[in-house]
Amino acid sequence: MKEKLRVLFENLCCSYCKNGFNEESIEIKRQESGLLVANLVCKHCGKSFGVSFIGLSNLEVKSTPVEVQDGPEPISYDDVIDAHEFIKDLDEHWQDHLPKN
Ligand SMILES: [Zn+2]
Repeated sequence: MKEKLRVLFENLCCSYCKNGFNEESIEIKRQESGLLVANLVCKHCGKSFGVSFIGLSNLEVKSTPVEVQDGPEPISYDDVIDAHEFIKDLDEHWQDHLPKN
């Protein structure tokens, strides 16, 4: 599992020190069918990027390089559950939930 995650994060880099992430940067908080909740921490500078939700069905998808930015406020356990309930119900129209420009 961690090997898959490493592949997912190897295109990312820390916005603070520009170092890449590796499997040591990923702390798995919660693992359920189809959804992984992980905390991403830069092992180079120690910066935490907070909790990431990872859809396991998307793990094979290669993303283009992205710089991870600071998230908003740290979220609580309740927020994680709420987000899970939200994500669980998403369908092919999930993009409709995104703010329109
Ligand atoms: Zn860093």
